[in-house]
Amino acid sequence: MIWLLAIPGLLFIGLLVVDFQISAPRYKGQECSYFDGKKFINPDKLKGRGFIDILKWSLTGDRGEWKKYYMTDVNFPAASTFRKNNKSLSITFVNHATFLIQADGLNILTDPIWSRRASPYSWIGPKRMRPPGIRFEDLPPIDVVLISHNHYDHLDRRTVCRLKEWHDPLFITPLGVDRFLNRHGISQTVDLDWQQEYAINEHTVVHSVPAQHFSGRGVFDRDKTLWCGYVLETESSTIYFAGDTAYGSFFTNIGHRFDIDISLIPIGAYKPRWFMQPIHTDPDEAVQIHRDVQSKKSIGMHFGTFPLADEGMEEPKHDLAEARKKYGLDETDFFTLDEGTAYTHQPEPKVLKETGE
Ligand code: ZN
Ligand code: ZN
Repeated sequence: MIWLLAIPGLLFIGLLVVDFQISAPRYKGQECSYFDGKKFINPDKLKGRGFIDILKWSLTGDRGEWKKYYMTDVNFPAASTFRKNNKSLSITFVNHATFLIQADGLNILTDPIWSRRASPYSWIGPKRMRPPGIRFEDLPPIDVVLISHNHYDHLDRRTVCRLKEWHDPLFITPLGVDRFLNRHGISQTVDLDWQQEYAINEHTVVHSVPAQHFSGRGVFDRDKTLWCGYVLETESSTIYFAGDTAYGSFFTNIGHRFDIDISLIPIGAYKPRWFMQPIHTDPDEAVQIHRDVQSKKSIGMHFGTFPLADEGMEEPKHDLAEARKKYGLDETDFFTLDEGTAYTHQPEPKVLKETGE
């Protein structure tokens, strides 16, 4: 009888031990309109689903089809391609939310993950279905890494530690996420609040902008560090990396603040909508973001790599095509890239506006 009573207690202790191992340190700082001293709050006050809904989804979910791709299915670009970095902009899709952005002599990675799983463990959790489009060892010298939040598919401990070892870049994170990196021996970090900026060099400034999402790596660290998107202003172009986000009213404000040339917007992990809508955009909403931020071009991301939701592997591309049709966009306005392929942009000479007295 005593043993029966002890089981819940032992389970709770086990949960605490596991959580202690995988959770991220929390942010400690001043309260503000979206930080109550313990947790961060979304711009539109929307919350992600709780434990009961996760249980409901796991019991009722209807998973679409996925196919496994192998290294032999990817045409890896030659390493020499990435050594040529000049004024023109080049954005290479690695996969998921990982891009190599080359602009103004800088090599910048977004949410890098090269691991086989998006998980704290190598034996369980969402498995990679497509290999990364650039071999890790072929990366050019990485100067800066942008991290949007601390979920496993965006902040992969193994990858960031490897990047530190090979390239020792500067990591830019939302508030509190730097503490996780520091814990793992990465000290070159800058943490930014929404609307804060950081000058990488005299030509390049990175701005943190709001996103509608949540954070947490364990059970008890939910929303205890911030999540964000980034606007990267370089000499030649302005790039918006939306991070992981649902649709919200704040995107129009981003469009008013910046003259965005190209946006990287999530189009995957959106089904079922009753569960995913507060945390992930579907392709239709992704096109609305493209319009709200007044982006000249957009590239879809966060699809086709890790099966994180109910839609099948090819559905995001199909639904993006439908959304383009609905909003009267051309295929060249909002598109996707194959792994290892790049979008390049040669800047037009800037015409200075006459300033009338
Ligand atoms: Zn996330
Ligand atoms: Zn994600």
